[in-house]
Amino acid sequence: MQTIGFDIGGTKIAAAVVDETGREFAETRRDTPRTWVETAATMNGAFTELRDACPGVAAVGVGIAGLVDRSGRLSYGPNLPGLQHVDVLAELSKEFPLPVVVDNDANVAAYGEAVHGAIRGIDDALLVTLGTGIGGGLIIGGEVYRGGHGYAAEIGHITIDLGGPLCACGERGHWEAFASGNALGRMGREAAAVGDAPSVLAEADGDVAAITGHQVGQAAAAGAPDAVALIDRYADLVAIGLANLANILDPSAIVISGGLIALGDVLIQPVRKHFLLRIEAGTERPVPDLVAATLGERAGVIGAAALARRAAT
Ligand SMILES: [Zn+2]
Repeated sequence: MQTIGFDIGGTKIAAAVVDETGREFAETRRDTPRTWVETAATMNGAFTELRDACPGVAAVGVGIAGLVDRSGRLSYGPNLPGLQHVDVLAELSKEFPLPVVVDNDANVAAYGEAVHGAIRGIDDALLVTLGTGIGGGLIIGGEVYRGGHGYAAEIGHITIDLGGPLCACGERGHWEAFASGNALGRMGREAAAVGDAPSVLAEADGDVAAITGHQVGQAAAAGAPDAVALIDRYADLVAIGLANLANILDPSAIVISGGLIALGDVLIQPVRKHFLLRIEAGTERPVPDLVAATLGERAGVIGAAALARRAAT
């Protein structure tokens, strides 16, 4: 069965036709417009293009960056102000002559990794995305766990330090303010500003303000001790949140996604080391496997298409 997956982000709308093996057939990509009316028109154009290429498509799945309630309404979407409070599922059901499902982007990515990616065949798993913030998706019993209202797995906003830095959501001390990809960049800039990260500074051509998590990762991958030390501190901050979640959920595996995954074991190994120390009774029990995502930025469209297929069968 072929279905269409949409991934609606703050800047781009990606869409593709995907079959039950996870193979992508046609794909398209457009800028995200400002208003819902324009967004619906853009999605309609993409839908028409994809269905012309693959006339047999049976359903449409949509992943949206923001809080999506159980009725398919975007309750909160700071990166998609034009879609805030829009009943996306109801609107798209009028737009497309096929069954439609709508969910949060990280839930969709988790489902994609569960059906076609790094946690394939694992019934109980957690997806953690380290990017601008920290996103989460929870797979329980092979299905996306949504909670009572649809807002489950907003894992970036667990508080790990009452007096910590401000989170993008306006509260203090949330995990994503410490352990997102952006937070790694901030750690790099702070270290470089006081002379503690010369190799990272060199990666940014001497410009402290230009340092992001990417430069820290590059320097660490090259083996520079200052950058390796930064990654180790960052890995512990990642591990603290993972251990909190694993103590509650006991997943079989945790899949880590986001751009930093390109670092491979330079990041994953120190996270594993700290995770073992942070989780309850780490030496006395099987601990969740920490694995890197395999679908990359395609997890959104592939997962949305898989969710649509799940709903249509
Ligand atoms: Zn927050």
